[in-house]
Amino acid sequence: MPQRFHHNGRSVEVKIDIDTCTACQLCYDRLPQVFTDRGDGIPLVVFKVPIENLMEELIQIAEDCPSNSILIL
Ligand code: SF4
Repeated sequence: MPQRFHHNGRSVEVKIDIDTCTACQLCYDRLPQVFTDRGDGIPLVVFKVPIENLMEELIQIAEDCPSNSILIL
């Protein structure tokens, strides 16, 4: 499920491409404040804290995702 928030005055959406995600666990191991295992290894996007201070880390993890499945729109 995509999640939307505001960052620097614009609306930003974070979602997972579940067709390409390999359930490698990297995203929720590194950023559990934003991603959680939905039960089968595929992450859900859940903002447990205000996201603004995590943007740099979120962008880095999206770049590190081996299948480029984290979409920041
Ligand atoms: S890092 Fe990418 S491939 Fe790995 S679980 Fe997260 S979205 Fe899926």
